[in-house]
Amino acid sequence: MIYLDYASTTPLDPEVTEAMIEYLRTSYGNPSSKYYPEAEEAKRTLQQCRQQVADFIGTEPQYIIFNGGATEGNNFVIKGIYNTFQHKGNHIITTKIEHKSVLEPFKFLETQGATVTYLSIDEKGHICLDELEKAIRPDTILVSIMWANNEIGTLNDIKDIGKICNEKNVLLHTDATQVAGKIKINVKEVPVDFLTFSAHKLYGPKGVGAVYVGPDELGIRRKITPLLHGGDQEFKLRSGTHSMHNIVGLAKACEVAMRDFDKNMGHIKNLEKEFIDKLIEQFEDITFNGDIENKVPGIVSFALPHMNNELFLNFYSHEYALSTGSACSLGEPSYVLKELGKEFIAANTLRISIGKSNDQTIISMVDVLKQYMDQYTL
Ligand code: PMP
Repeated sequence: MIYLDYASTTPLDPEVTEAMIEYLRTSYGNPSSKYYPEAEEAKRTLQQCRQQVADFIGTEPQYIIFNGGATEGNNFVIKGIYNTFQHKGNHIITTKIEHKSVLEPFKFLETQGATVTYLSIDEKGHICLDELEKAIRPDTILVSIMWANNEIGTLNDIKDIGKICNEKNVLLHTDATQVAGKIKINVKEVPVDFLTFSAHKLYGPKGVGAVYVGPDELGIRRKITPLLHGGDQEFKLRSGTHSMHNIVGLAKACEVAMRDFDKNMGHIKNLEKEFIDKLIEQFEDITFNGDIENKVPGIVSFALPHMNNELFLNFYSHEYALSTGSACSLGEPSYVLKELGKEFIAANTLRISIGKSNDQTIISMVDVLKQYMDQYTL
């Protein structure tokens, strides 16, 4: 089976598996306990992991909060900021093509009295910076814009978005789940206040992630109401006993992703180019969704007229693992394509996402697709 669904999830990197198994085999201390060696060792491991994750995004360890992944991180930032700054205003801004783990908290907050502006996107999936600037009001307390979209891979210009939010004195959150490990992240160069991601998109384990909660003007970590109250772990921002083996896995995944970045991205970009060239050669009526020039390496969303994507996926499900779009919206027409003005091709669209373990054999999918199209379509 050829796996082409790395945007949905990735297998564990062997070094991550090793580190996690070794940790599970040898350690069980709770880093919140005190004095005895097992607890102190767990504390040291936690510190070391926090440093590794901080290095991964160019920050200091005190700004890293471990949690259960990007869905939790997005909920934490959006609901937490709304709760903390509601006295200053109730206007919050996002885009129409965010992942559901951003859109649903926004919808929920509308039921709690928030006023939300949902920014539209152009035909390639970018927000319009002018529209963002005009949307920010004196009572705006948060802007949340994804760094890259999970269905089409289009990258937003987070640097320029950050500049606008900075000038207007509004907090900025970015969901970096699809860029972590694929684009170099340095929060010192990209002015964001909050950034979220999950380990399982960068060859780490599922159910763990991190949030960057940046400093305020005085260099103090920003105040934000926690989602989970309890034993005050994670600087009182995320209670619950640390899932140490998962945190070890996340930190190792970050270390490996940074170390092998150039090699892996070079490999993925080469395979992607070959795949796209072959698609263009075989299908003259192919269209690509999103911004093919400025996107996350490895994600390719394309449509072929007359192809029924669900039938194709079903037919070849034992040979190729890929998707029509987001794994979270299977079965529904894609709201991302709808916002791109491409709803009419939603049923003809496939998303492949290439990962570091892929090789030349992925190109065979284009021939299989060609055969299928010749045989089963008019
Ligand atoms: N944001 C984006 C852009 C994603 O692609 C995903 C995962 N599909 C999430 C958030 C949620 O991540 P998780 O399921 O790990 O919580």
